[in-house]
Amino acid sequence: MIKHDIVVIGGGLAGMRAAVEAAERGADVAIVSKMHPVRSHSGAAQGGINAALGNREEDSPENHAFDCAKGSDYLGDQDSIEAMAEDAPRQIIWLEHRGCIFSRMPDGRIAQRPFGGAGSPRTCYSADVTGLVILHTLWEQLERFGVKVYEEYFATALAVEDGIGSGVVAYNMRNGELELVTAKATIFATGGLGRVYRKTTNGYASTGDGMAIAYRAGIPLMDMEFVQFHPTSLKENGVLLSEAARGEGAYLLNSEGERFMFKYAPNKGELASRDVVSRAEWTEILEGRGIDGCVLLDLRHLGREKILERLPQIRELALDATGKDAIDTPIPILPGMHYAMGGIETDKWGATRIPGVYAAGECACVSVHGANRLGGNSLLETIVFGARSAQHATDYIKSVGNVRSSERTLKAEQDRIDGILARSGGERHSHVRKAVNDAMSDHAFIFRNDAELRDGMEKLRTAREMATTMTVQDKSKTFNTDLVGLLETEFLTDIAQPIMLGAINRTESRGAQARTDFPDRDDEKWMTHTLMRYKSATADPDPDYSRKVVITKWQPTVRTY
Ligand SMILES: Cc1cc2nc3c(=O)[nH]c(=O)nc-3n(C[C@H](O)[C@H](O)[C@H](O)COP(=O)(O)OP(=O)(O)OC[C@H]3O[C@@H](n4cnc5c(N)ncnc54)[C@H](O)[C@@H]3O)c2cc1C
Repeated sequence: MIKHDIVVIGGGLAGMRAAVEAAERGADVAIVSKMHPVRSHSGAAQGGINAALGNREEDSPENHAFDCAKGSDYLGDQDSIEAMAEDAPRQIIWLEHRGCIFSRMPDGRIAQRPFGGAGSPRTCYSADVTGLVILHTLWEQLERFGVKVYEEYFATALAVEDGIGSGVVAYNMRNGELELVTAKATIFATGGLGRVYRKTTNGYASTGDGMAIAYRAGIPLMDMEFVQFHPTSLKENGVLLSEAARGEGAYLLNSEGERFMFKYAPNKGELASRDVVSRAEWTEILEGRGIDGCVLLDLRHLGREKILERLPQIRELALDATGKDAIDTPIPILPGMHYAMGGIETDKWGATRIPGVYAAGECACVSVHGANRLGGNSLLETIVFGARSAQHATDYIKSVGNVRSSERTLKAEQDRIDGILARSGGERHSHVRKAVNDAMSDHAFIFRNDAELRDGMEKLRTAREMATTMTVQDKSKTFNTDLVGLLETEFLTDIAQPIMLGAINRTESRGAQARTDFPDRDDEKWMTHTLMRYKSATADPDPDYSRKVVITKWQPTVRTY
C-alpha cells in the first residue's frame, strides 16, 4: 500500500503548484496523475496569466478584483476574488524567481497585454505559449524537491473513513492493478470537463474525472450550468486561437466585412468579455451574416513581424488546420466549448465539505469566475489556489493523527471494475459518449431555453441508463485504454446532468447562461449559487440553492462593455 501525508490528484498547473507548496512546507507529498504532468492541458494555455503588476499602466489588485466581479456577472464570491487578485503579483514574482521566462518590455520589466473585460493590460505572458513555460518551471521544482509522481495512475474513487478524507483508489494503467493511496489530505487538481461537449478546445483527457469522483463521494458540484464558450475556436478541429490575438489588436469581421463587435459592446469592441463576444458572433451567424457558419478573425493589419514575434503558435495552429496563413488571410472561427466555471464546491482555501479533501484549478469552484471567467484568470487560479489549498492542507495534517486506510473502498472499486470487465453484450462506451456529447451540444449551447433543455435532460437520463451496461472489448491488464475510456465516459455522463439541470432551474440570463425565455438577470431571485448533490447512478441530482453569493464591495449593477 502507498502512503503519504498529502496526495495531489493531477499534475497540471494546479496540482504541481500545490505539490511544490506542500514540499516547501516540509510535507511528504505525492502526485497521482493519469498522464505525465507536462502533458497536462495547462500546457496548451497560450494567452497568459493575470496580475496587477502595473507595469504598462497604473493598476491595482482592487481594480483586478472589480473586473473579476463584474466579469463574473456578480455571481463570483468577492472574498475569494479579492484573495486571488491580492495574491497574484506575489505569485508571478514567485514563478519568476523560480526561473519562469516571461516576455519583457524594452526596459526589462515583465510585459503585460490587454485581455477581454480587463480595465488595464495585466496579462503576463511568454509569447503565446505561457502555460507550457509555467508548466516546465513547476516540473523543475517538483524534481528539485524530489516529489514522487505516480504517473499513469488513474484515480477512480475517493476514500472517506470516519467522515474524513483518507486518500484515493487509483488504477495503475501499466499493469491493471488497483492500488490504495492513503493520505491525510487529498487535493483534487484534475482539470476541466470539455469532453462533455462534441467539440471543445480542451485536450482528450479533460473528462471531469475529479469532479465526478468528488460528486459521487458526496461533495456538491457548484455552478455547473456556467460553461464558457470561447469566441475564437477553429471550425475544423475545435482548437483554440487564443484571446491574445484580439489582445494584440485582431478584428472580428462578419460576411459584410464589418467589425460587428461595436454594435454589441460600444466601448470594448473585440475585447468585451467572452460571454458577450460569443453571443455576438452567434447572433451574427444566426442572422445570416456568417460565412459557412463562421465569422472571421483578422490579424493582417498587425503585420508579419508582430504576428511572428507575439502570436507564432496561433498562426501555426490556424495554418495547420485551415491551410490559411493569418499573415495575409482572415481565419474562419466560431465559439467553442472552452472552460467550466463550475466544479467541486470549496471555500476560499480550496477546502471542501469533507475534512482533508481539497480542490484547486479548473476542477474546483472556489467561485472566482462566477457566471463568466475573464481570460488569464484561470492560470492565475491554478497557481493561487494550488498554493492556498496546500497551505491549508499542510496545517490540517498536523491536526489529524493517522487516518484509516480504506480497504473497503479498494474492495468496492475492485468489485466494480471486475464487474465491468466481466460484462458482455451491453453498450459500447463510445456510443454512450456520443449520446452525452449530442445532448450537451444540441441542447445546452450558447443560447438556451426551457423546452430544449428539458429534451436534453431526457436524453441524458437515457444516456445514464445506457451507461450502466457499458462494456469493453479489451479485457487485458496492460494499458487497457478501452477500460480507461469507459471509466472516463461514466464520469462525463454523471457530470453532464448537473450542467443541464442547473441550466433548466436557473430562470435568468447571467454570464454564460443565456436563456432566450428569460433574457434578463434576476438579482432578486438568483444571487445564489447552484449546488448539485449526487443521488445514484441513474437518479437525477438533488439541487440546493442555500449558498448565497458573497459580496464584499461591489453590489450588482448593469454590466456593459
Ligand atoms: C487551449 C487552451 C488555452 C488556454 N489558455 C489559457 C490562458 O491563456 N490563460 C488562462 O488563464 N487560462 C487558459 N486556459 C485555461 C487553463 O489553461 C486551464 O483552466 C488550466 O490550465 C487548468 O489547469 P489544471 O491544473 O486545473 O488542470 P489540467 O492542466 O487540465 O491538469 C489536469 C491533471 O489532472 C490529471 N487527471 C485528470 N483526471 C485524472 C484521474 N482520474 N486520475 C489521475 N489524474 C487525473 C491529468 O493527468 C492532468 O495532469 C486555456 C485552456 C485551453 C484548453
